[in-house]
This record gives sequence, C-alpha cells and structure tokens, in this order.
Amino acid sequence: MGNYLEIVGGKYIWVSDLMKQLWCEQQMVYEMEEPSLERETPAMKAGTDLHLARELAVQDIVNVEITSPEDAFAVKLINLIGMAEDFATGAACVRREIPVFGAPYGEGLFLSGIVDEIRCDAETFQLDVVEMKTRANSKTLPSTSQMATHRMQVMLYKKLFDDLVRGAVTKATIALHLRLRLDRRLGDDVLHHLGDRRACDTLGSLTDFAFARLQSLPFVARTTLEYCHQADACCFEMVAVDYDDAWLRAAYARCAGFWRGARAARGVDVEEAWKCRTCEFADTCAWRLRRIEEILSERRSACSER
Ligand code: SF4
Repeated sequence: MGNYLEIVGGKYIWVSDLMKQLWCEQQMVYEMEEPSLERETPAMKAGTDLHLARELAVQDIVNVEITSPEDAFAVKLINLIGMAEDFATGAACVRREIPVFGAPYGEGLFLSGIVDEIRCDAETFQLDVVEMKTRANSKTLPSTSQMATHRMQVMLYKKLFDDLVRGAVTKATIALHLRLRLDRRLGDDVLHHLGDRRACDTLGSLTDFAFARLQSLPFVARTTLEYCHQADACCFEMVAVDYDDAWLRAAYARCAGFWRGARAARGVDVEEAWKCRTCEFADTCAWRLRRIEEILSERRSACSER
C-alpha cells in the first residue's frame, strides 16, 4: 500500500483524480506509477480544444508572471474575485474555468477543481453550475458508470463552491495543506493585476478580500451536465443532477480512505469487468489476474463436488 497523496505532490488532489478513481482505482494507480506515458487520445484533445474555445468565447486569458507558490494561489483568488464582482454588478452572467478548492467533509484532504461554467441569472441572482462533457462518436449519453463519475464531479463542484460561500474554508486550512505562507508578499506582476486592490499585498490579506467577495454570493441552485458532440460542438442533451449531500459524503469518504493510505487500491467489481476489455493494463493487472484465478478456482471446486 503506497502513499499516493505523496505521489501526486503530497498537498492536494484534483477533482479529476477522483473521477479516474471512481472509474477504476487500480487503473488510476497504474497511470500514476507510469506518469511519463502519453495518454491523450485524439478525442481527449478535441474535448480540450472545445473547452478552450468556449472559455475564450466569454473571457480573455491573461498571462501572469508567477514567482512563488503563493503567487500561483493568488491567481486563483483573482479569478474568483473577478467572477464574484462581475456577477454582483451584472457585468457578466457566465464565467468559465473557475477554480474551486477546499477540504470537504473533514476527511483531511485538500481538493482542487476547475468548474467548467457558472451561470448567474441577472434577475434572480441564481447561480447554476454546468459541466460540459464531449462525445466523440455519437450523440448518445455515456454508460451508467461514466455518468456516475460525471454526477459526482458536478456535485463536488457545488460542494466546494458552497463551502467557499458559507465561509467553511479558512486561511489556516489553505496554508496548512498547501504549505503556503500567508504573510509572504505577492510578486510584482500579481500585484499589478490586482489593480486598485494592491493593498492586499500578501496571500493572507488577498484571501480575506476574496472570501468576503465570495460570501456575498448565493449557493449554487442547480447542477447540470451538458453533453456536446465534438463534430459540431453543439449540445445534444442537458442532464439535471439532483444534489445529494448524503450520497456525496459517503462516496467521497470511500475515495478519501484510499488517499489517506487506509486501504489498498481496488480494481473493478465483477459486474464492471467490461471496463478491463479496453484497459491498457489488462494483461498485467494484479487485481484482474487475481479475480480470474479466484473464478477458476471456484469453478474447479464446483466441478470436483459434482
Ligand atoms: Fe482496472 Fe480492469 Fe484495468 Fe485492472 S484491468 S486496472 S481492474 S480496468
């Protein structure tokens, strides 16, 4: 049993790591152990390009010179401040690629994610999270298993965002998990992009400012999955996801146990063995080979009892 949190840097995990984990934890571990392999398929590249095109349709990408880990985190905060102020003033009703983070459910892990899209209704001030998924070959929804990972993803985004709004994420939590210095002065280019908020010249003061802005927002009202076909970049189905906090808490706790080193990685259950057919590790996967051996052994026992 390894310390996989250390393998991914020891500080935090991405929401996308959890999605891979839900698909097959063992596969995720094999991929982490061979990080140098190029795994981006043409369909994945097309999906990434589509996300970028949609981001550029509503906002510009600005290069900021980063001189420290504190600067890198400050850029996330600047993005959040911009979103909160744009929604509050009505300057924008859609923002894309929004960073969220936190340590949900007291599981001792720090999570980071990038929300595809948050929409703000100008009249009702209602916020909706929309997660876009692209389909390469057909205008059909993915398998039930795949959709379960998408559901958890969009629910986690709501959880992380709402925790920021309710003030459940503290400066101390950020500093502790990410090993950041709250009193460190931010770099000149970061301060330049802060404009008239340059008085927030440390990560700690900028975090206070960002949290105050976020706490003026409402909680996320609706979570939706938007499925688009890569060929025409058009949405063919919107799927509403009912947020279920008890389900999310339990699913997250199962995932967190692995990252804390409380248990070994698991492969797929027998009912989902079809996932192994397209897995690059199928020939050598210890979990799968053990399962095959167990099944053969059960059959041999059954035959000898007849
Ligand atoms: Fe998971 Fe099956 Fe691949 Fe093993 S072969 S890593 S159990 S999908």
